[in-house]
Amino acid sequence: MTHRDDDRVSFAQPQRKNVVQPALLVSLHDVTPAHAARLARAEQLLSALGVSEVAYLYVPDFHGRAPAHRDPAFAAWCRSARPFRVQWFLHGYYHLERREPRGAVSGRRSSAIGHWLARTFLTDGEGEFLSVSGRDLQDRLESGIASLTATTGSAPEGFVPPAWLSNADLIPALERLGVRFTENHFQVVDLRARRAVAAPVITWASRSAGRRTSSRLLAAAERRLWTRHPLVRVALHPGDFDHPHLVDSIARTIDALRANRRVIGYAGWQA
Ligand SMILES: [Zn+2]
Repeated sequence: MTHRDDDRVSFAQPQRKNVVQPALLVSLHDVTPAHAARLARAEQLLSALGVSEVAYLYVPDFHGRAPAHRDPAFAAWCRSARPFRVQWFLHGYYHLERREPRGAVSGRRSSAIGHWLARTFLTDGEGEFLSVSGRDLQDRLESGIASLTATTGSAPEGFVPPAWLSNADLIPALERLGVRFTENHFQVVDLRARRAVAAPVITWASRSAGRRTSSRLLAAAERRLWTRHPLVRVALHPGDFDHPHLVDSIARTIDALRANRRVIGYAGWQA
């Protein structure tokens, strides 16, 4: 699986023991002009299901060939009215890991190998923020925030690294830039409140028939397994909407989860 222990964020204070109504966070990944037609299909489904809040994960320049901030039609689409509330999150910059020159990989050898394994087998080369650090990380985040703000008309409420892969420099950089929310494979993190909460995520893989079948089976198991979990995430990707069986699995999953939980925004789980 894609889980790595070092992803987890912990803050010094103990978790509060509030009993809250079980909740569901819905996000739409890879919001870019490159996926405009698929995103329209995703919105049709979300509207039909009556979902009240969705986080849109904006990619400023998908694979270096879709600069969203230079696309007036896309900006108009981003700002258009929807039957649900949208929270805009930044989601990488290129959503593609740029290969470093040979010999440029820094850090311990074991960590370099771990990163290579993660980026090769877990992300199909899309772990953009896995190895970006220091000034480069700060610059890329600042450029992304500027792009999102120009396109949508408001600053990002959060940042989610592509494939949920990042490194230890990300949290301090987000804190410096005043970005409130982030998440990893295991948790949702509120940097303003300095709280991290466990939140399993259900997602679908669309790249091959085998992955599509296994992700449908997994989603059916997970939506039962996590019935009692206080906070569950559902993460949708544009590629899901090319496959009617996946769309059906998404609809069933969101419906099943909503049987005992409400859809919230990222600030809602503090309640
Ligand atoms: Zn993504």
